[in-house]
Amino acid sequence: MNIVYIGLGSNQGDKIRNLNDALAAMRSISDINIKKTSSLYISEPWGNLDQPDFINQVIEIETVLAPRELLHYLQNIEIKMGRQRIEKWGPRLIDLDILLYGGEELNTPELTIPHPYMRERLFVLLPLQEINAELIFPGDGAKIEEVLIRALVREGNQKIERIQGSPADTFC
Ligand code: AMP
Repeated sequence: MNIVYIGLGSNQGDKIRNLNDALAAMRSISDINIKKTSSLYISEPWGNLDQPDFINQVIEIETVLAPRELLHYLQNIEIKMGRQRIEKWGPRLIDLDILLYGGEELNTPELTIPHPYMRERLFVLLPLQEINAELIFPGDGAKIEEVLIRALVREGNQKIERIQGSPADTFC
């Protein structure tokens, strides 16, 4: 079994519903076992600022699926939910990223793990720390707390807020 962290994001339509639909779709896949779900976070868009705020969440899953197989399942969910790939960093109904896959490092044209931008993004690091405060990054062995502090110093102007009453620590 591999422990994998997935980042979810939506900034179009009913964003919370989109995240819930994506979770339901993942739950229906027998080789994906959702172990932890973070709270929901509202964050301002990254890259292209001229678009609605995002709602983000990070989940921990257990899976026997190989990284590429998992990516294809996630991409199928994105497509079935009606996501259209129009512009990089543009608005999106649902975005599902593989953040970490066990202690593995992967660099192929299709898949980069750990996710290439995750160390800069508070909307990934905050929910990730919420569900695993002991997390260690593959490669340099950095602790999540150190990575988060570095990101806060560098990117402290990123606006992000935890949505009170969202499903923190719901163990599924
Ligand atoms: P995005 O528009 O951010 O969802 O990027 C999608 C593309 O990123 C896909 O074509 C994937 O092949 C590629 N990709 C590379 N690394 C990852 C990753 N760790 N998780 C998800 N997609 C990835």
